[in-house]
Amino acid sequence: MRSRKIGRALALTIVMTLAADTTFISIKATAAQNNDESTWEEKFRAILKKEGQADKIKETMRTLSSEPHHVGSAADKRNAEWIRDQMKSWGLDATIEEFDVLFPTPKERVLELTEPEKYQAKLKEPAIPEDPDSGDENQLPTYNAYSGDGEVTAQLVYVNYGVPADYEQLAKMGVDVKGKIAIARYGASWRGIKPKVAYEHGAVGCLIYSDPKEDGYYQGDVYPKGPYRNENGAQRGSVMDMPIHPGDPLTPGWGATKNARRLSRDEAKTLMKIPVLPISYGDALPLLKSLGGQVVPESWRGALPITYHVGPGPATVRLKVVSDWNIRTIYNVVARIAGRDYPDEWIIRGNHHDAWVNGADDPVSGMAVLMEEARAFGELLKQGWRPRRTIIFCAWDGEEPGLLGSTEWVEQHAEELMRKAVVYINSDSTGKGWFNASGSHTLERFVNDVARSVNDPKGKGSILDAALSRRSAQGRDDGERRDMRIGALGSGSDYTAFIDHLGIASLNLGFGGEGGGGIYHSIYDSFAWYTRFSDTTFEYGLTLAQAAGLAVMRLADARILPFEFTNFSETVGGYVDEIAKLPKPPGQEVDVAPLRKSVNRLKQAADEYDRALRSVVNTGAAPGDTKELNALLYQSERKLLSEAGLPRREWFKHQIYAPGFYTGYGVKTLPGAREAIEQKNWAEAVEQVKVISRTLDAMSSQIEAAARKLRGQ
Ligand SMILES: [Zn+2]
Repeated sequence: MRSRKIGRALALTIVMTLAADTTFISIKATAAQNNDESTWEEKFRAILKKEGQADKIKETMRTLSSEPHHVGSAADKRNAEWIRDQMKSWGLDATIEEFDVLFPTPKERVLELTEPEKYQAKLKEPAIPEDPDSGDENQLPTYNAYSGDGEVTAQLVYVNYGVPADYEQLAKMGVDVKGKIAIARYGASWRGIKPKVAYEHGAVGCLIYSDPKEDGYYQGDVYPKGPYRNENGAQRGSVMDMPIHPGDPLTPGWGATKNARRLSRDEAKTLMKIPVLPISYGDALPLLKSLGGQVVPESWRGALPITYHVGPGPATVRLKVVSDWNIRTIYNVVARIAGRDYPDEWIIRGNHHDAWVNGADDPVSGMAVLMEEARAFGELLKQGWRPRRTIIFCAWDGEEPGLLGSTEWVEQHAEELMRKAVVYINSDSTGKGWFNASGSHTLERFVNDVARSVNDPKGKGSILDAALSRRSAQGRDDGERRDMRIGALGSGSDYTAFIDHLGIASLNLGFGGEGGGGIYHSIYDSFAWYTRFSDTTFEYGLTLAQAAGLAVMRLADARILPFEFTNFSETVGGYVDEIAKLPKPPGQEVDVAPLRKSVNRLKQAADEYDRALRSVVNTGAAPGDTKELNALLYQSERKLLSEAGLPRREWFKHQIYAPGFYTGYGVKTLPGAREAIEQKNWAEAVEQVKVISRTLDAMSSQIEAAARKLRGQ
């Protein structure tokens, strides 16, 4: 490793921001030469404040959402090329990197009620005159990608959300789905969990419908009058078994390059075994109305004008799904700005560009923001800015089917990323309301610092102030701490491979919470919808560009990378408390003492690093060797991996965060131990407690080493 001494000429300028009752410290290490970080930040802000800037996001959205652009479509490739060319025109070194992935599209879809009366499901979202894009050609029909092929005729059973707890309730009611077709409503879990759990209970098919209670007329006026889902709207989406591993089902753990080794479809572990279709509430109503049997428990009721029954039958349906199992090419755009001092330390910023249909909200609202950041960085480059570290902007393809583009890229470049990746910052759909952030808690303080320095569009202080006053208004004040706490990452967007597979500290940023909608993954997720009901002025989009852009700049230019560990140790301590309190049968204990011991050591190490950092702040003394210190800091998240991975899903190596095996997107923290206890696998729980303790100890050693390095020892 090359060591690099920082001379006194490069004095550290350290800015300490002490909010009245907080202990936030931002270290702005500033070179004396003409690369003053805060000046460049001001220039970046100035670019985004220019007249008409929000309209640029709007025009990018108009371009990228003008045609359906799912994987394999002409518009998908065209969009990737357009993004690349834009990036190039701004002075970034942009290329397209291709992968070849399994992406099924529907050949046949049939759903009919055969008993007690006949009904042929429409399975079609009609165009509406108020929304010109809704009549576009080349829309993918409503379907669930990676559904099993098959034709089944069986009685129907209503399974509520179709999560494991619902089947416990069904068992109490004496109802079984074996040999039946389950109909589940969207909500409460990621959609892929519903057919998976139905299959585990012996169902031969699965329907997933959008109940109006979730995102239809129960919530507000439906599209086009209002933003919510109309009776014909259906939610497309993947039912790949992503909690096993995301990415191309045929190349688990390695890149799906043209000549890569590929599994057969029979060998693939993430393909759904039974036929699955998503349907609208217009199509679900005749089916549910025909169910007999017991009346459902109160919490199972949706908002359709019927009394909900569980069945089974007499409603009987015929369900047929046949897909075209083609290999398609996906197009990731990768655009670089080479680092001046540390070209081999990478700050990566990504958003996906593929959509299910036009996707103005998902993903273009986030993609257009990312492009504004890249455009602004391009202008800074022209003004003479050179970031210390390398910045890589990525526009991922194939996110919707199963995080294909990002996962294949991460797998293909795993060895290099393990060495070079400092942080990954993701965004996806973004709207209006409040700033939200999830991610690695080693970056929680950093996120607060960034949020504190970005103004809220409503003009009431910073986006941090706005988020905190909303928390108070909702009565969610969190103990003594007055900063914003970030959520843990589960799955559901392109950060998954970075954090869960490689241990690259990651963040997911966006705005939301104001207004709602029901156009997710439908043909009505369009420019017309977004510009009427979401961030209509694009001022929140612009604010997100500012927050994410500042985060990237600060990470790229920091002398000492802004990782810190006291928030992390506190958060992990909280997870251990949760594990200890999980319900267990009388007499059954899972000893969490090893975890408590490791958390104590972690806390001491975190405090020690914090003290060392404060002493640098107070004395202004520059540490001798920031390169080695920074390597210890950004490699720290790697210490949270276990090479063996989680039980029965070794692709997931992170021991602190993982998407739940039975929740999908929903996060499970300390997943190895938590899920073993939830599934009453006591021997495994004891084993996993040890694995997590060892992982935390490795993290503590790393932090202790960083503290020593910071003290110049
Ligand atoms: Zn998305």
